[in-house]
Amino acid sequence: MKQNQFDVVVVGGGHAGTEAAAASARLGAKTALISLRKSDFGVMSCNPAIGGLGKGHLVREIDACDGIMGRMADKAGIQYRLLNRKKGPAVQGPRAQIDRKLYRDAMQEELKHTENLTLIEAEVSDFIIENGAATGVVLGDGTEIRSIATVLTSGTFLRGVIHVGQDQKPGGRMGDKPSVRLAERIDDLGLALGRLKTGTPPRLDGRTINWDILDKQPGDTDPTLFSFLSTSVTAQQISCGITHTNLKTHEIIEANLERSAMYGGSIGGVGPRYCPSIEDKVVRFSEKDSHQVFLEPEGLDDHTVYPNGISTSLPVDVQHEYVQSIYGLENVQILQPGYAIEYDYVDPRELNINLELRSLESLYLAGQINGTTGYEEAAAQGLVAGLNAAAKALGKDGISFGRSDSYIGVMVDDLTTRGVSEPYRMFTSRAEFRLSLRADNADQRLTPKAMATGSVSEERQRLFEGKLNSLENALALAKETVVTHQVFSELDVDLKLDGKKRTAFQALSLKDVSFEQLAERIPELSEIEAEIGNQMKREALYSNYIARQKKDVESLQRDEAMKIPDDFDYNTLASLSSELKSKLNRVRPHSLGQAARVEGMTPAALTLILAKVR
Ligand code: FAD
Repeated sequence: MKQNQFDVVVVGGGHAGTEAAAASARLGAKTALISLRKSDFGVMSCNPAIGGLGKGHLVREIDACDGIMGRMADKAGIQYRLLNRKKGPAVQGPRAQIDRKLYRDAMQEELKHTENLTLIEAEVSDFIIENGAATGVVLGDGTEIRSIATVLTSGTFLRGVIHVGQDQKPGGRMGDKPSVRLAERIDDLGLALGRLKTGTPPRLDGRTINWDILDKQPGDTDPTLFSFLSTSVTAQQISCGITHTNLKTHEIIEANLERSAMYGGSIGGVGPRYCPSIEDKVVRFSEKDSHQVFLEPEGLDDHTVYPNGISTSLPVDVQHEYVQSIYGLENVQILQPGYAIEYDYVDPRELNINLELRSLESLYLAGQINGTTGYEEAAAQGLVAGLNAAAKALGKDGISFGRSDSYIGVMVDDLTTRGVSEPYRMFTSRAEFRLSLRADNADQRLTPKAMATGSVSEERQRLFEGKLNSLENALALAKETVVTHQVFSELDVDLKLDGKKRTAFQALSLKDVSFEQLAERIPELSEIEAEIGNQMKREALYSNYIARQKKDVESLQRDEAMKIPDDFDYNTLASLSSELKSKLNRVRPHSLGQAARVEGMTPAALTLILAKVR
């Protein structure tokens, strides 16, 4: 292979790009990762945290497919918290504060030592397109880099504009130039584009915060790590501070709303509803006289503090005034002002479920360019695009994720079927089968699928197979071990004297019975490792619901298996409304299941499509 010839070229070294490049290289494709600066790899543009509700599930799923985000996060986690700890395991989300530098360094080391991967520092300014397919990219200096497949992950850089109050300047994020040439080339591809915005808070000098008077939030004493391969935290653990905005803060913001980029009319793009700016909060929740602010240290040897909850596009003088009105921040110094950024995104309905453009073969898009927000959402798409681009280049079958097997599948389906009207972020409520799509069983759901592609390391395969074997043996034992009434009465479990025999597995399905309690009383179970026992408890807890859901899952899978050909002509279905025809022509569903989820779809229309497909 020539020097400038690769199987896969990935453009952009953010969260989508690094995951895409690593996935492609793992699958065995000769891969190049090109980014504006080599120091970009692993940079976190906004909050120093990874995971959370829904997002933590995505990180676990990426890890289950041998992706890198979870392992890197575990090298840099400085405060772990399992969100929703008091609720059931299905909605618990692992989250950690991350030391930015440790994360970036870990990511750069990982990429440097990844076989099949070449890192290139350059601006990509054009695509090479031949015979209706993308066959490489052109760099700013005119150099051509050839490939069989290309993955574009340019984040917020396409025609990015940074706003601080009424001041605007072009930028991909603070300190970086935007990608304008590439945006113009994307215009030429005739794709549907939109404009979105997001914002970030001012960064504070931690040495000027009055920590002594503030409440502290420590991490969990038994941290839930991201990677199935990690065994313990590696970095020193810290606490975050907690403070609140107050009436004075809100008055300052209200009095200056017209000077905010968002409210002064300078920004047209739509922002993330679930991650509102402080201006948004003050206006939309005017009945509240206080909002919580988490003071999150950006690193162990860094004084910078990220005040989570007060992102803004107000002018710098107003930022100073309102921040200093907050308890504990009276003398705080701002190291970098907050700002909003507006950027182009591509309507994700232009993509198929492998994240390849339908109108241009071999060009895959992943990350914020597809209208999402968040590192985890970006990385998960990077995994999908990277694996599929590599599979295409190597002539292998692609790998697709479905709504019934993963949050990754839910996200890709939502994006490609419904598009976005605001920056898309993951929530557990987006998954209809969330009782089975848990963070704790991501490996059971996805590692075998990833192993079938040949992209999983031997070490992970060995550990996974060992765990699965132990779990299966433990489940078999628990399903044949009968729990005596004596044990139930010791555990104070009221079974309404129904006289039924119950196995240990059935006992574990009761909310208040833990594995530990049973293992202490039933000698056969005491040999089972605690971790395996606790996993068995989680399986048992939802087993009845999951059994009931089985029919729905099977029906979805049947509809997904009913493929609709790429060239299916909806215009020949005379009784379809023209509105539905135009929606179907836009989404071009790959299966009957996806067609059913197209907005406005009716049972009658679905029957017509099914009859024609048959
Ligand atoms: P990025 O991480 O942006 O990476 C894009 C990469 O592409 C960069 O490395 C860049 O150098 C490279 N690149 C761009 N153009 C070219 C080119 N032509 N040639 C070569 N390389 C190129 N997420 C949240 O979850 N919550 C938030 O509150 C939040 N707020 C944010 C606020 C701001 C101001 C910003 C900028 C982002 C915010 N994010 C937030 C989003 C989060 O940072 C992104 O979702 C995530 O980084 C997207 O990952 P990505 O890989 O798609 O893009």
